[in-house]
Amino acid sequence: MGDIYSASSGTLPAIPDDLTIPQFQLDHCTGPKRSSKTPCLIEDASGRQVFLEEVRERTQGLTNALSSLYSIGEEDVVLLFSRNHLDYPIALWAVHRVGGIVSPANPDFSRKELEFQLKATKATLLIIHPDALDVSVAAARETGLPMDRILVFDVPNAKASNFITVDGLIKRGLRMKAFSDRRLRPGEGRTKLALLSFSSGTTGTPKAVAIPHIAVIANVLQLAAHSKVNEECGEWKDRRYRPGDVAIGVLPFYHIYGLVVNLHFLLYCAMTIVVVPKFNFEGMLRSIVRHKITHLMIVPPQAVLLCKHPAVKKYDLSGIRYIMIGAAPLSDEVNEKLFRLFPDAHIGQGYGMTETCTVTSIWPIERKRGISGSAGQLVPGVIARVVKTDGTLGGYNEVGELVVKAPSNALGYYNNPQATEETFIDGFVRTGDEVRITPEGELWIIDRIKEIMKVRGFQVAPAELEGTLLDHPDVSDACVVGVPDEYSGEVPLAFVVLSEDAARKVTQSPGALQDITTSILKHVADNKIAYKHLAGGVEFVDSIPKNPSGKLLRRMLRERAKELRKVV
Ligand code: AMP
Repeated sequence: MGDIYSASSGTLPAIPDDLTIPQFQLDHCTGPKRSSKTPCLIEDASGRQVFLEEVRERTQGLTNALSSLYSIGEEDVVLLFSRNHLDYPIALWAVHRVGGIVSPANPDFSRKELEFQLKATKATLLIIHPDALDVSVAAARETGLPMDRILVFDVPNAKASNFITVDGLIKRGLRMKAFSDRRLRPGEGRTKLALLSFSSGTTGTPKAVAIPHIAVIANVLQLAAHSKVNEECGEWKDRRYRPGDVAIGVLPFYHIYGLVVNLHFLLYCAMTIVVVPKFNFEGMLRSIVRHKITHLMIVPPQAVLLCKHPAVKKYDLSGIRYIMIGAAPLSDEVNEKLFRLFPDAHIGQGYGMTETCTVTSIWPIERKRGISGSAGQLVPGVIARVVKTDGTLGGYNEVGELVVKAPSNALGYYNNPQATEETFIDGFVRTGDEVRITPEGELWIIDRIKEIMKVRGFQVAPAELEGTLLDHPDVSDACVVGVPDEYSGEVPLAFVVLSEDAARKVTQSPGALQDITTSILKHVADNKIAYKHLAGGVEFVDSIPKNPSGKLLRRMLRERAKELRKVV
């Protein structure tokens, strides 16, 4: 060994390949028994509890309605454009029960971003949070989606009175003949699509990742096997996930980390999830106390707040037993501070990506704390290789790109054979992350060699922002790179070459440069969600460095950006 890596502990059970996700979660769950007193979900603001029977019933009601009133069936795509909501999993599983595919999207997307996803997935139904109503209506108009194909989650006092609500449909559906979902054919779960989640992969603009039902089920079982959820082991107080534990659901369910780990895995563990629609730090602190939260699944910026925000002192957070941080690099400094702040809690990093349907590594169960800087150890079922720049396989401690094979791997990029071929090779996924693996099995993420930035845990594809910049009349060429930022991890900075006209204006009146900068920043802000805005600023250059075949030499500009924005 040494050039092929796998988990050192935990045995993966057979992964059912004939079940859909809701059949696995609701009908044939192999996880710990849920007590009738343990709700699945609690609404953060109201405290409303939803128990397993109600989850099943509401899913059935919506399944009936989606099938008979909207004719949603096999392979139809439904776009879920919502913040976390009690009915989010209900909508997800109802679509799966009728054989459809869910494409989740960030409800703060701009009209153009939503249009892009609607077109790429050919979604025929949009289920939204009322906050996203205006953007949804505008995007539906633009893409020809009829208004009666927009369904709205119920939120008190929301302005969506002309639209059909999900709760209304559930109630109607429960009066209809029950739709009976089919069990998949043996093996069908390996190819039947459940999700189209977006990721840019190693290069280019966001692409729909084709995630089959088995991928989510597998990752839940991999996590369960890793942490011995189904075994009587260790002292009760030291067990990571216990039935009846309560996690806060601040991670968005539309991102694969929130969807698989925070929602599906913790429900499998018979835990309760407090559903939080929109992250607000003090709100989270209050909820931790109010709902007696034991588990936090968070991203590095939230960890930074826990370490640095003055309000933390006002709240008793001693009930927290477990903190998992993932989706982006975590500084050693923050990690160490967290250890001091929560001396008794289990704390560590998880690592994974949309294309691997989440968790590839996490810190080992035998240790309460992960090692600062390490992304933990491979979970059972993952086979990994480290590919060095010369194409040969790296042994222990050698640096190279991580490629992984796992039962949770996605099938490829939807309708994009070329991108699929580049990233999904012989059952392995190229992660675009530079790593090293130690003889003890620790995975260290050294650098990101793919183009994407991670801003507050969200992917930002430079190619997407460069496309938007090129739509601006004063821009003739552009290259976007990330610059380090203490809170966000990194933020986008644009190198811009002025168009001839704009350059002439600037020569005649140097003050014009400020107006052009303002106009470029506004152009991006008008067209993109907030985390994609050019918080790193704009730098004007005479040309963008490219190799002879025209490929951007992004690394050069990344280094230049770091110099320009160096904190002195
Ligand atoms: P996404 O598909 O949005 O989940 O993004 C996946 C990418 O996020 C990975 O390929 C990494 O570049 C980055 N990432 C996720 N978890 C970690 C981690 N623990 N440490 C460093 N980078 C991470």
